[in-house]
Amino acid sequence: MNIHEFQAKEILRRYGVPVLAGGVAHTPEEAAAVARKLGGTVVVKAQIHAGGRGKAGGVKVVPSPEAAADFARGLLGKPLVTHQTGPEGRVVRRVLIESGCEIARELYLGVVVDRATGRASVIASPEGGVEIEEVAAKSPEKIFHESIDPLIGFAPYQGRRLAFRLGLPKDLVNKAAAFIANVARAFQESDAAMVEINPLVVTRTGELVALDAKVSLDDNALFRHADLREYRDEHEEDPRETAAAKHELSYIALSGNIGCMVNGAGLAMATMDIVKYAGGEPANFLDVGGGANTEKVREAFRILLSDTSVKAIFINVFGGILRCDVFAEGVVEAARQVGLGVPLVVRMEGTNVQRGKEILAASGLAIESAADMAEGARLAVAAAKRVRA
Ligand code: ADP
Ligand code: MG
Repeated sequence: MNIHEFQAKEILRRYGVPVLAGGVAHTPEEAAAVARKLGGTVVVKAQIHAGGRGKAGGVKVVPSPEAAADFARGLLGKPLVTHQTGPEGRVVRRVLIESGCEIARELYLGVVVDRATGRASVIASPEGGVEIEEVAAKSPEKIFHESIDPLIGFAPYQGRRLAFRLGLPKDLVNKAAAFIANVARAFQESDAAMVEINPLVVTRTGELVALDAKVSLDDNALFRHADLREYRDEHEEDPRETAAAKHELSYIALSGNIGCMVNGAGLAMATMDIVKYAGGEPANFLDVGGGANTEKVREAFRILLSDTSVKAIFINVFGGILRCDVFAEGVVEAARQVGLGVPLVVRMEGTNVQRGKEILAASGLAIESAADMAEGARLAVAAAKRVRA
C-alpha cells in the first residue's frame, strides 16, 4: 500500500527523523492559513501517490500566504501528470505546505527489500534530487548499499560507513549516521516495503532534513498496524483493485483486452502466458481462489465487465476443491445477473467437468467451450478481434 508524502513524514517524525514543519490543506484558504502560521517562505506540494512532482509543476516555493493560496488553487481538483502517473495523471485532493528550506546539498537515502539477498538494504548516494535511476545506470559507483541483518538489525557502524561515503564533513557524520539508523528503524518497525528520501538535504545551517518522503507498506503486514491502515487513500487506487480486495479476489489491472478469470495464482500466470502466446494481451490477472462461490464469481464478473477495454473474457478453471458443476452454476448465475456484454470462453477441467459443461450448454448463454487452455486462449483472442473489428 502506498501512502502520501505527508503521511510518510508523520511516520518518520515518530522515529526522530527530522522533517520540516508543515500542514495539509484541502482548499486555497486552508493553504494560506497554514502558510501564515509557518511564516516566511513556504513550499506548496501536491499530494498524490507518484513522484516527479517537482518537474511536473506540482511543487513550488512561494513567498507569501496569498501566493500559497494561488498556487494551491491551480493544483486542487485537477489532475497532475508526472512521469510516474501515466498520461491521465492523478487528481490532487490536498496539498502539503511546508517551511521553505535553504538547500546546500541534496542526497539520496532509501531502504528497499533486496530479493537477491532476501534482506532489507539501505541505499545512499551523494547524488540526490535528480533521477536516482539515471545515477544508478550511469554512475553506479556513486550508489552505496548496506544490507540489514534480520537478527542484528541495522548496525551503528553501517550508518557511519554510509555517512562517510556520502562525503559529509566530520561534524555531520554522526548526525547522518543517526538519521540513517532512524530511517532504517522506521522501515523495519512499520513493516515497510520501501522508504525513499529523495532528497535528503543538508541545509545552509548544517542540518539534515528529509525534504521528500515516499513510503510503501507491506500489505501482508498491515493487519498488525491498525494506525497505518488508516492511511489508505482509495482515490489513489484502481477502483477495480479496491473492489477485488473487498471480496478477497486477487486482481491486478493490466493494459490488454482479454479479461481473465482463473482459480489459483499459478494457473492465472500460465493463462496470461498462453493468452500472449495466442497473440492476445490480458486485461488483468485475476485469481478467484480455491473456494470461489457464486458471489465471488459474480463480483469477479462485475469487475471484469466494468473494464471498458475488456473485449472478451476467458475463464480457465481447474476444479479441485472447487467442483466444475458448482463453478458452472456460479458462472451462469453471474452472467445472467450482471449481463454478458462480451464473448465468453470457458475452459474447465477436473472434478465433475462433464456435469459442468452440461450446465453451461443448457444455460442458453452464448458461451464458447474450449477443450484445453491453448484452444481457450485462441478462441478468446479471436473473439476479442471480432469485437474490435
Ligand atoms: P518530487 O520528488 O515529487 O519532485 P520533492 O519533494 O522531491 O518532489 O520536491 C522537488 C524539489 O523541490 C526538491 O528537489 C527541492 O529542490 C524542492 N523543494 C522541496 N521542498 C522544498 C522546501 N521546503 N524548500 C525549498 N525547496 C524545496
Ligand atoms: Mg523527491
